[in-house]
Amino acid sequence: MLIDNHGRPINYLRLAVTDRCNLRCFYCMPEDGLNWLSRKELMSYEEMLRACTLLVSMGIQKIRITGGEPFVRKDIMSLLTSISELKGLDELSITTNGVLTAPYVEQLKNIGVKSVNLSLDTLDAGRFFAITRRDEFAAVMATLDELLKHDIEVKINAVVMDGKNTQDIIPLVELTKELPVSVRFIEEMPFNGDGHIYTGLNWDHIRILDTIKEHFPEIKKIEDPAYSTAYNYHVPGHKGDVGIIAAYSRTFCGTCNRVRITPQGTLKNCLYDNGVLNVKDLIRAGKSDADVKESLLIAFNNRVKDGWEAESLGSTGIHESMATIGG
Ligand code: SAM
Ligand code: SF4
Repeated sequence: MLIDNHGRPINYLRLAVTDRCNLRCFYCMPEDGLNWLSRKELMSYEEMLRACTLLVSMGIQKIRITGGEPFVRKDIMSLLTSISELKGLDELSITTNGVLTAPYVEQLKNIGVKSVNLSLDTLDAGRFFAITRRDEFAAVMATLDELLKHDIEVKINAVVMDGKNTQDIIPLVELTKELPVSVRFIEEMPFNGDGHIYTGLNWDHIRILDTIKEHFPEIKKIEDPAYSTAYNYHVPGHKGDVGIIAAYSRTFCGTCNRVRITPQGTLKNCLYDNGVLNVKDLIRAGKSDADVKESLLIAFNNRVKDGWEAESLGSTGIHESMATIGG
């Protein structure tokens, strides 16, 4: 098992396979998109698979594929299939915006994907367009349908944004009445690629919960799974659950079990650090498995205590887009 310098197990990798995306979510990137990485700057599938194989052999048990939008990268199913076959990996999951995902759901089920995080900030098609700048609401709802039909666990990620979608908080909780989904409200973070100025957090986890409690006074706290970044709740009689993720308040760093690899191969020990190592560069320099593993171990033994420490060390990453970090 991998244990960091603060005694925390590391068993979860979030791998961002591309920075590109077919939406332009207001909170993630500017309307014109980003300066997309060139093919050469991106990790190849072969390099990603080598990194995953080494990390799984070191103790990583869960891998989440994210981006950018994973399904805009060509032939993504071939990478997912190879990763799903890694011995020692317990769980492969995906975070997607759902625009292109519906036709792949059956294949995802077949390779053993049990859980998908679907980003959906509103149940109103007009507000969906205002937030994502693309008219793709129906496609995302079709993916939700497909996932449920195939009995894949669905977590809906909704970023709560002042003046944009706070009127959706209650309808999204109501969705859990009939659907067995977990709706997770996420505090907005500054990682928007400078698409707009981040003016501070108006809707923190406490305000989100208070708003839900006003409408659903009967809502109950339920046990949080190990390493959960969400505070989890259940409205009696509902089929699904509600989670609140204090992503900006950073209340969960004490049990953080995750590391990230960005599309350009940078290892991040913390969402808020600047990256601590480039795995792609090590692989391209022809390093042996043992050498790459040693570099990874050194990095894991020098993890920051929390996101506040990362920021105090001069994080420049907060001006980045979540799409280049891997949300
Ligand atoms: N494109 C995929 C999607 O949207 O699900 C995967 C990548 S996206 C960067 C991963 C998650 O990060 C999404 O759930 C998104 O809502 C979240 N995210 C992006 N920018 C964020 C921000 N500034 N604050 C909080 N969450 C953010
Ligand atoms: Fe694309 Fe996901 Fe960022 Fe939205 S949050 S712009 S869907 S990468």
